Amino acid sequence: MSKEESLECSFCGRKKVETDLLIAGMDAHICDKCIEQAHGIVLEEIVEAEEVSAEADFEVKKPTEIKAFLEQYIIGQDQTKKTMAVAVYNHYKRLMQPKDDKSDVEIEKSNMILVGETGTGKTLIAKTIAKMLNVPFSIVDATVLTQAGYVGEDVESILSRLLQAADYDVEKAERGIVFIDEIDKIARKGDNPSITRDVSGEGVQQALLKLLEGTVVNVAPKGGRKHPDQKFVEVNTKDILFIAGGAFAGIERNISNRLNRQAVGYSAAMAVDNVDETNLLQYVIPSDLKTFGLIPEIIGRLPVLSYMNPLDAETLRSILTEPKNSLIKQYTKLFEMDEVKFSIEDGALDYIVEKALEYKLGARGLRSLCEAILTDAMFELPSSDEKEFNVDKEYAEAKLTKSTLKKLKAAS
Ligand code: ADP
Repeated sequence: MSKEESLECSFCGRKKVETDLLIAGMDAHICDKCIEQAHGIVLEEIVEAEEVSAEADFEVKKPTEIKAFLEQYIIGQDQTKKTMAVAVYNHYKRLMQPKDDKSDVEIEKSNMILVGETGTGKTLIAKTIAKMLNVPFSIVDATVLTQAGYVGEDVESILSRLLQAADYDVEKAERGIVFIDEIDKIARKGDNPSITRDVSGEGVQQALLKLLEGTVVNVAPKGGRKHPDQKFVEVNTKDILFIAGGAFAGIERNISNRLNRQAVGYSAAMAVDNVDETNLLQYVIPSDLKTFGLIPEIIGRLPVLSYMNPLDAETLRSILTEPKNSLIKQYTKLFEMDEVKFSIEDGALDYIVEKALEYKLGARGLRSLCEAILTDAMFELPSSDEKEFNVDKEYAEAKLTKSTLKKLKAAS
């Protein structure tokens, strides 16, 4: 065989005679078919890249549209949905402000802080906003954060998670949303700030300041497909929207004291009679957060403040059935997959709500209660011939024996 004849394509191995064309490179050859295929791959990649960048230029919805989207998933909390819609709208308008905007008006960030009991939907509302905008979202628990140099997680770890949620696409992460849960747990303990600098409280608040405002942080990406070996990635936080949430247990006392003081003073702007004592959170203002122990600088960097209403029976009842992916809709779907028609009577729903309230389980408890009632059926029905399954109050009551409820209560 001549040298010429022994030549072959280094990609597919075809002999020269089997190809129409074999092009020689430095140490390799490529045939016409492989060139065609490679060209196809290149075109595909280009289209994909264009699609991704088109996604990034998302369209900003109007506040009423944002609120309408939230309505599909979140029951009640009207004031917060409205405040949130405006804040998010302004935040993304700010992002779209041309870099060369010559006017001196610099729109500041609309980071938010939500005050309300646990299980009232703070995380849900933040998560739903991220879903609507199709931006990366991560949740961080403020209680695990510590000042740099102490045992625990540095505040930078917040960004590692966001980066992970963005599949290590830095640009995407830089437009994401971070939910900082339990912000009230890093409140300064005690009234006198100068005596001690508590590591877990004020120190963390100080460390968070820059992040909330906007700074470039070196983030350890912790692996990842695109940057497997890279030690640090630079992430700019100036366009990241931070939403903090906390229960601020006992803040009602601060609010009540303040309201009483105001009423005693000459400007009794709000007559004490008009105050709804059952839901004092609705009167929360930034200075109450300061009295609680957040430092003024943190409060200043979370300028949009809103509150969550406690969940009453009517709200819990709606949460069970109304949201787009409500628990009952989810169970109906699960049974449907086994070709079982699932139904639940009003009496049973009321009973579940009653127990959730009685045992102070909140909205999170609804899930555990439903599980306790439906587990037996979900275990048995898939291998039976039953095609229908109805839950009435008696059935629910029978399944939720006293001991189960005790367990649920202990777990809550
Ligand atoms: P928080 O962050 O305030 O502690 P979550 O947002 O985690 O509370 O709420 C816990 C769960 O309770 C959610 O996953 C959701 O199923 C349900 N839930 C709470 N509040 C609402 C609400 N207003 N509308 C619909 N579901 C809610």
